[in-house]
Amino acid sequence: MTASSVTPFRIGDVWRDGDQGTHVLTSINPADGSVAGRVACATVEDVDAAVTCAWHAFQHAPWRNLRPDQRATTLYEIGRRLSAERETLAQLQMRDSGKPLKECQHMVDAAAGHFRYYAAVCETWQNEVTSPRGEYFSMALAEPFGVVACITPWNSPIMNEAQKAAPALAAGNAVLLKPSEETPQLAIELARICTEAGLPQGLLIALPGRGEDVGDALVRHPGVRMVSFTGGTDTGRIIGGIAGQRLIPVGLELGGKSPHIVFDDADVDRAVAGVMSGIFGSAGQSCVAGSRLFVQKSIYSTFIDALVERTRGLRVGLPDDADVQMGPLVSQAHRDRVARYVDIARSEGGQVRVGGDRPADGRLEKGCFYLPTVIDGLTNAARACQEEIFGPVLVTLPFEDEADVIAQGNDTPFGLAAGMWTADYARAWRVARALEAGSIWINTYKQSHIATPFGGFKDSGIGREKGLHGLRLYSQTKSVFFGMHAQPMGL
Ligand code: NAD
Repeated sequence: MTASSVTPFRIGDVWRDGDQGTHVLTSINPADGSVAGRVACATVEDVDAAVTCAWHAFQHAPWRNLRPDQRATTLYEIGRRLSAERETLAQLQMRDSGKPLKECQHMVDAAAGHFRYYAAVCETWQNEVTSPRGEYFSMALAEPFGVVACITPWNSPIMNEAQKAAPALAAGNAVLLKPSEETPQLAIELARICTEAGLPQGLLIALPGRGEDVGDALVRHPGVRMVSFTGGTDTGRIIGGIAGQRLIPVGLELGGKSPHIVFDDADVDRAVAGVMSGIFGSAGQSCVAGSRLFVQKSIYSTFIDALVERTRGLRVGLPDDADVQMGPLVSQAHRDRVARYVDIARSEGGQVRVGGDRPADGRLEKGCFYLPTVIDGLTNAARACQEEIFGPVLVTLPFEDEADVIAQGNDTPFGLAAGMWTADYARAWRVARALEAGSIWINTYKQSHIATPFGGFKDSGIGREKGLHGLRLYSQTKSVFFGMHAQPMGL
């Protein structure tokens, strides 16, 4: 497929190749502004056709009623094929999202890992037999919802999609997958691979389309029984509101403004490295980015000086450079948004210690690059400290003691993650318990694990993905009673 041809998507046996011009999504390579791909764009009518097709597949295709070990065989095969196509998928994702190639390879590995993990969970997951309190035998079964909608953002294509599709399929559902309009290509590839691996047609339909029409139509469609969404908090609130009206369950994985804390007994070298990878990895376009740095007052100046020095040395470059440490942002519009936040921080009294501009390197001129930026001198109430910037911008704040940093750390609407560096594990435990966040990292940051639940407190979301929680999200419980009465039931 060349960049100028249009990649179609399919709804069951019907291909949709878009109506040139009006119904095409153009993905721009953020590294150089070239066209990375053109993808047929779904319409609201396609949503209706896809829901009908998915229900037909759910009810008639051999899937939900297969034995779990049989479903697992297909899920393993999807994982195997994702791994086999690692390089092509990673290259495609690099052009689609601008992420460094090694990060894209890691995303494909993680996507394959999700299918393998949920294959294993699928064949080992047990329903419950409940203790009898009378003359009956009773059990609690996990049942699929039917057709579920999975809506994903642009920052980790294929991994975000797999994180939803693998457990939703493992639970026996049919999946309508709507990727971000910024990065629509990988979801279509995932749908193709699922079909080639033997998943019956209609059980996973990729619907590349815009949020305001296709996404909205999915959430409102009476045939969609559950919605799993990852994206911004404002969008999550809209989707949660519609789901609330419809009384359908939602999983919401939303934004963050995570505190990253350095106590004065921390190993400074490791902490500086952890803080940098926590904010500048993925160019800060990570929901768990450690974007608010709190450093204990006694080491504040020396720590920030070391951090600024090392940040200045980060290699910002083209995503396919072997030694690149930070690639471009996803789009010009997003880069402008990040730059506006830095201007706001300046106007609020912030001092830009490093970065705060585009790189001077002429090779990067056509791309959406922004320098890794450290801003000092704000209070935690400043907008740059309270709002999610989703870029390579770190605000640094001093703190007095444990109580002070817990209060400041929790003083945010978000609650996705938090990290800390300290030699005192008893203190780490106390602070970990006190912080309002779904994931806490101690002497490490941004570790993730397929088997460990992930999700947010407060405005960072509802529900948990990954691990067994990830499978439960896509299941509803049905209780079944077998009567064993020796005598007829009386009134
Ligand atoms: P976004 O909310 O703008 O869009 C996310 C998805 O929702 C896209 O597919 C979009 O088309 C769709 N959408 C938009 N409006 C919609 C509507 N009204 N109805 C239905 N769907 C709609 O987010 P984004 O800019 O793509 O991604 C960045 C955000 O995602 C950040 O806030 C980031 O923190 C968050 N994120 C969270 C996690 C997590 O696991 N908590 C992971 C990755 C990204």
